[in-house]
Amino acid sequence: MTPGHVALTFDDGPTPAHTLALLDALRSCGARATLFNIGRNARDEPGLVLAQRAAGMWLGNHSWSHPHLTALPEQEAEDELRRTARVLRRITGAAPRLFRPPYGDTNPAVRALARRLGLTEVLWDVDTRDWAGAGPDDIVAAAEALQDGQILLMHDGYAATLEAVPRIVAALRARGLQPGMISPATGRATAPRGPHRVR
Ligand code: ZN
Repeated sequence: MTPGHVALTFDDGPTPAHTLALLDALRSCGARATLFNIGRNARDEPGLVLAQRAAGMWLGNHSWSHPHLTALPEQEAEDELRRTARVLRRITGAAPRLFRPPYGDTNPAVRALARRLGLTEVLWDVDTRDWAGAGPDDIVAAAEALQDGQILLMHDGYAATLEAVPRIVAALRARGLQPGMISPATGRATAPRGPHRVR
């Protein structure tokens, strides 16, 4: 068994219906995750953003309104990322270093923009397809493909995902893989640095 780290990621929060339950599910198995928040959701639910931080989660930038960034004029794409950075900084005191483009839709211009704003673009290695209606068993099965350093895509917003989380973490640990953070330097999963230091 080769020990290692993988990153659990949850996009599209915070959501009034699911975020607290997601944090409970993660806490119940002692797992930390990276949450790619939508800026306007964060603006509407600052208390949930603070709850994410208090639960030890790492926060990422998932744009302001979840557009296809490659279809936007550069200035609008920049506004999407800047507004989100600003609102998360206002709420938490720190702007995220990680960025995930909605739909994974990116190109050299989007990557260059992210770099210019000091953001590391993070996609994923394994998609649970919770967004497409996958059930808990399918989500757990998808996570079995994860290897050291890799990143799992999930979402804040589905009951099936909540049900799958403790099973995924237990199965990963049985394989010697611990839920870790995403390094802003490499964009890969790595051991958590420091207790509850969110960068
Ligand atoms: Zn998304």
